[in-house]
Amino acid sequence: MHVDIVTIFPELFAPFLVTSLLGRAVEEGRLAVEVHDLRDFTEDRHRVVDDEPYGGGGGMVMIAPPWLAAVRELTAETPAWRVLLSPQGARLDEAKVLDLVARPRLLLLCGRYEGLDERVHRSVVDEEISLGDYVLSGGELPAMVLVEAVSRKIPGVVGLPESVENDSFRDGLLDHPHYTRPRELEGAEVPEVLLSGHHAKIEQWRRRESLRATLCKRPDLLASAELDATDRKWLEEIAREEGLEPAED
Ligand code: SAM
Repeated sequence: MHVDIVTIFPELFAPFLVTSLLGRAVEEGRLAVEVHDLRDFTEDRHRVVDDEPYGGGGGMVMIAPPWLAAVRELTAETPAWRVLLSPQGARLDEAKVLDLVARPRLLLLCGRYEGLDERVHRSVVDEEISLGDYVLSGGELPAMVLVEAVSRKIPGVVGLPESVENDSFRDGLLDHPHYTRPRELEGAEVPEVLLSGHHAKIEQWRRRESLRATLCKRPDLLASAELDATDRKWLEEIAREEGLEPAED
């Protein structure tokens, strides 16, 4: 997969792209990320990227010409799915991440100030994506979040495929709890079954605890999760154990 990122702060991405799993993925060529300075697509001596808003009011607006030039130049030979990071976009979630990883090439546009001249959205943006219902000062952190989430779905980026398969949201449920040494911590023991070496029982426990985590923390997810008869029976038991109302179908 290839990702181009356009920003006025390319330096923000340098440590991100060389660190940990993502750094290794880039080094191994599983993912190519190119960061471009929007100012390189300006034509004036001062490399201006913003101007005052028509109609007055505070704040500056990013002018359209450098964005149009950047998108057109970067997609001239190979088309890309063009994403504007924006608080007004559809919220990034697991389904959207899977949709994006299926695209061979992404072009991410990181806004600043009051955002981009509206005509950029209309002419060169395929989709607006938001991290959530709050406003950040720029699209760079959302772009990093998007790249990291997408990269985890590229085969080989996360060493053990099971780690990704068991991640929260993968099957519509939250992940089960994890434990490591020490076996006893301030009176709290690791659940006995995890020490048993009995793989089938461990898998059952993990599924049940995944249902518990989802019921207690994100019951809204249960409405669209794939549940069989055993899951439903466990959910009823867990609801009683936790003193909650049984989950609705
Ligand atoms: N005036 C805009 C509004 O209220 O919709 C907010 C502009 S914001 C200060 C500047 C830039 O940060 C945006 O153009 C966008 O690229 C990015 N940004 C801010 N919040 C974001 C969010 N929740 N998700 C994705 N990008 C965001």
